[in-house]
Amino acid sequence: MFNALVIDQENDQQTVSIKNLEESALPQEEVLIDVDYSSINYKDGLAITGKGKIVRQFPLVPGIDLAGTVSDSKHPCYKTGDKVILTGWGVGENHWGGLAEKASLKAEWLVPLPESLTSKQAMIIGTAGFTAMLCVMALEDYGLKPEDGEILVTGASGGVGSVAVTLLANLGYKVAAVTGRPENADLLTSLGASRIVSRSELEEKARPLDKQLWAGAVDTVGSKVLAKVLSQVNYNGAVAACGLAGGFDLPTTVMPFILRNVALLGVDSVMCPYEKRKAAWHRLAELLPDAFYEQATTEIGLKEAPEYAEKITLGQVTGRTLVKL
Ligand code: NDP
Repeated sequence: MFNALVIDQENDQQTVSIKNLEESALPQEEVLIDVDYSSINYKDGLAITGKGKIVRQFPLVPGIDLAGTVSDSKHPCYKTGDKVILTGWGVGENHWGGLAEKASLKAEWLVPLPESLTSKQAMIIGTAGFTAMLCVMALEDYGLKPEDGEILVTGASGGVGSVAVTLLANLGYKVAAVTGRPENADLLTSLGASRIVSRSELEEKARPLDKQLWAGAVDTVGSKVLAKVLSQVNYNGAVAACGLAGGFDLPTTVMPFILRNVALLGVDSVMCPYEKRKAAWHRLAELLPDAFYEQATTEIGLKEAPEYAEKITLGQVTGRTLVKL
C-alpha cells in the first residue's frame, strides 16, 4: 500500500484527496520507483487547484517531477537501487506523477541522478531549475557571452527565475533580476544578481523599440513584460522565453526582430530529448554552488500540497516547495 494525492472528478467538480492505494492501482510501466521527493511547480498549482486545464484523465496523481529510487525494473537500463529523476513527458498531466510514495514510469522518461546530487537536491532544482538550465543553454547556443553585457531575468524570485539568476551569475554573466516583490531583493542579490529591476517598470506599455539595455534575457513571465523586454534588448541579442506567469499573450511588434536582429528563443522542458536532458542535469550538478541548496526552500508533506498549490498560482511562493514522500 502507498499514499498518493489523487485528483478526481465528481459531477464535473474536481476533488483532491490523499488516498491509500494498493500497488496494483498504479499504471503498469517499465520502472517502479519509490519516490523520495517531488515538488510543487506552477503547473502543479494549476492542476491541483483546477485553475488550468492540465489534467486530462481522472483519477490522476499530480506531480510533474520526482526523484527516487528504482524498486523494480523491466528495462535493461535500470536496476533496483538506481537513483533516477523524472521531469516532463506529460507525467502529472496525463500519466500518474510524483505526488505519491510510488510511481510507475517508462524508462525513456527517466534520467540517472548525477552522482554528486541527492534526490533532495535534484528536487530543489526540479523542473524549474532544469528549465532554467535549458534557457541558459539556449542563450549560450545562440552565442551570447558574459562580455556581451547584462542579462535580464524576469520572474526572478520564482522557481525558474531564481535558478536562472544563480546559473548565469556562476557562469560570469552580470545579471539584472526583475521582481514584483522588493522584499526578495536580498535573496536575489545573494544568488548573484548585481541589480534589481522593479516589475512595474516592465509592465508599462512597450514602445516598438526602447533604449537598448540587455544583451539577453530569460523570460518566465510572457505578456507585456516580455514585450517590454524585447523592445530593450541590444542589437543581436536574444531572449529565451519559457513561461507565462504574467499571461500567454505577447503584445509586441516585429520591430525588435527586423531592426535589431533580436532572437526570441522558445524553451520547452517537457519533450526535451534524452541527450540534452542528461547534459543539462550534469551541468546543473556542476554549476550550482552548495549555497544554492541552502536558499529559500520550503519542505512540506503530501497533506500540505493543495495549500501550496493554491499559493503558487497566487504568486505567493518564493523559491522551491519540496514535497517529501
Ligand atoms: P513561479 O510561480 O515559481 O514563479 C513565477 C514568478 O513570476 C513569480 O515568482 C513572480 O516573480 C513572477 N510573477 C508571478 N505572477 C506574475 C505576473 N502576473 N506578472 C509578472 N510576473 C509575475 O513559477 P515557475 O518559476 O515554476 O515557472 C515560471 C513560468 O515558467 C510559469 O509560467 C511556468 O508555467 C513556466 N514553465 C515552463 C516550462 C517549460 O517547459 N517551458 C517549465 C517550467 C515552468 P517575482 O515575484 O519575483 O516578480
